[in-house]
Order: sequence, then C-alpha cells, then structure tokens
Amino acid sequence: MSDLWINNVRLGSRPEPVSIVIRDGRITSIGDPPTDWSGPTLDGRGHLALPGLVDGHAHLDKTLWGLPWRPHSAGPGLAGLVENERTNRTSLPPVRERVSSLLQTYVDNGTVLIRSHVDVDPDNGLSAVEGVLEAAASLDGLIEVEVVAFPQSGMLSRPGTAELMEAAVRNGASLVGGIDPAGFDGDAVTHLDTIFGIAERNDCGIDLHLHDRGSLGRWEVGLVVERTRALGMEGRVTISHAFCLCDGDPSIDGLLEQIADCGISLATVAPGSVDPLPLDRILELGIDICLGQDGIRDLWSPWGDADMLGRAGQMAWRAGYRRDEDIERCVELATWRGAKALGREDLHLEPGGRGDVVLVDAATPAAAAVTKPPRSAVVRDGAIVRSQ
Ligand SMILES: [Zn+2]
Repeated sequence: MSDLWINNVRLGSRPEPVSIVIRDGRITSIGDPPTDWSGPTLDGRGHLALPGLVDGHAHLDKTLWGLPWRPHSAGPGLAGLVENERTNRTSLPPVRERVSSLLQTYVDNGTVLIRSHVDVDPDNGLSAVEGVLEAAASLDGLIEVEVVAFPQSGMLSRPGTAELMEAAVRNGASLVGGIDPAGFDGDAVTHLDTIFGIAERNDCGIDLHLHDRGSLGRWEVGLVVERTRALGMEGRVTISHAFCLCDGDPSIDGLLEQIADCGISLATVAPGSVDPLPLDRILELGIDICLGQDGIRDLWSPWGDADMLGRAGQMAWRAGYRRDEDIERCVELATWRGAKALGREDLHLEPGGRGDVVLVDAATPAAAAVTKPPRSAVVRDGAIVRSQ
C-alpha cells in the first residue's frame, strides 16, 4: 500500500496531461498535481495511462511457457486434443515452475488479475490446482489468481472428478467449473445439478465452459438461468465462450435478456473459429463480460502470449472494428469491465479505484490495442513494479 504521484500522463483520447495521485494504494485524485507532496513520483512522460489488465479466462496449468517451441501434435477433434494432453503432460516440468514463469510475464505486461481454469481429474488429483496456487503465492501479491476447479476431461464420464472438484474449492479454488454438460459430458441436467450443488454447499461461484452450439447450447443456457435463479446465485455465475449465442438465431435476444436479468456474466477469448458474441447488445443489456487468453502456448494450441492488450486488439480485429470507440471497448473488456465481470468493482482508473496503472507510449487505448507497445511502467497498489 504505497503513495505515488504519477505526473504528465494522458487518459483515453484526451490530449491534455493530468496527474494521478495514489495514497495508501488507492487513487485519490486524477487531474491537477497535488499541492503538497513529499512522497515518491513517477514521470509519466506524456504516455497513456490504462487500468491494470485483467485476463478473465486462462488455463495457466497447461502452459509450456519458457520451454522450447513445440509443434502442435494433437489428432483431430476434441478427443484428439484431450488425448494429446493426457499422454504428453507427464513429461512436462512441474506446474509451479511453468506457471511462475508465465505469471512473471503477465505482471510485466501490466496484468493484475487472472481467472484460471485448472484441470482436476482422477489422474492429476489436485496437483495442478496446488501448483497454480503456489506459483501465484510466489509472486508475492503482484498478481491475483482466481482458480476455477475445471473438469477438462469430463466430470460424469470420469467418476471421482466431482468429488475432487469439491475438494478443490475447499482447498483454495475460488469457483467450480464445468464443461459442455450435454455435448461433452452427456447429461446436461445431472452435470449442472452437480456443479450447482457444489457451489451451494461451498458458497462459491460457477464458471462453465460452454462450447455446445446452436439450440443444444441455448437449451443449456436456459438450464443455467433456471438454476441460477432457483439458488439465488445472481451475480455469481459465468458462462465462458457461449458459442451458442454467436450464430444470430432470433431466440438469442430473449436469452440475453434472461442472462442480464439474473446477473450471469460472459467470458470470451475472441476465438478465430467462431463468429464474435453480439457485444453491442450484450453491453446495451448491461451484461458483464470479460476477455481472456484461454490457453497460453500449450498442448491445445501454440497461441497466446500473456498480453491482454494484444488480445483486446485481436478481439477488435475479429469483430471487424475500425473506429477508436469500438476498439476501446475491447480494451475495457481486458481491463476494468473484465474485472467487473469477475466481481471486482475497484479496478477502474478513477478516484477510489485501486492504485493500479499501466503506462504505454500510445496515442489512445485503441492505438495501444493495435500497436501493443511495451509497458513503459506498471504500478500496482501504488508501488512501481516495472519502469523503463
Ligand atoms: Zn477455456
């Protein structure tokens, strides 16, 4: 919890320089320089100030970060990907080692919060969850990592997994996950009843992977809405990917209204293979939505680089955005708006917000998403983490 006066920075598309004053790790003013100041200062050099970056959907435990380049080796389809991971992951260095290296890169890029789904299954037990939590702890509070106990290889189809997921949320995981209750796990009702049961017993949130497309996926969204309402879990449920809301079907709007009504948030990773979510309508309805990296250089895909500014640019590119104001909304998903979707209201760059500031040499947030400049400074809780 530090004091810091950051002078000569710009906000948004406004050209005039301002000062950001942080006291006890909180932003107390943005505008004029402080009249009396004896604490540390940071010269912003006219650079653009952004809020701390947020990754709302990652898979840290799978990363090959820091290891030699590995050509993608999976067979076709989801089964090929799962099998490729199961056979190759045992030869990898420990989770803690790989994730520590990746988290350091996230921190250097200005990231302050990550929600990571972490595999839980009868082969691995809770070892990946423990490895990710240890790696996060080793960064000494520089970055927050929320862990979702995630049944990557199935829950009902792999007996013992649900019990392990419950053990995970009792031992450091913040949320319980799920995966394609119908399309992958074969029984949507039992899958959802199980994970909502774990959430209810342990007073934790839910973040569900839903790749199931079309009417199947939309039926599952309806089941999620129903259970969210029945258990009073408004504001504590996230649907990740939600490909079934991307195909323009006329029934989607009604479903979005229900999602808005029961405070379900959405997470997207701007995938190359599916049309983008209807972002304008989502924001118009007040639905919280975050952006994520998904996997970062792993056995599932060689993509991902722990830079949420670049991912914001990728999202804008996928959506066909060209205007600054449209591209800037994607940066919001990678910063304060994404944080809000994870239930954090205080990671905004405004008085009262936490003293997290990322400086980049860019004209506007849209320019930053397009050009992905190196971070000239990263400030966390008012302390300078990186400056160059
Ligand atoms: Zn995922």
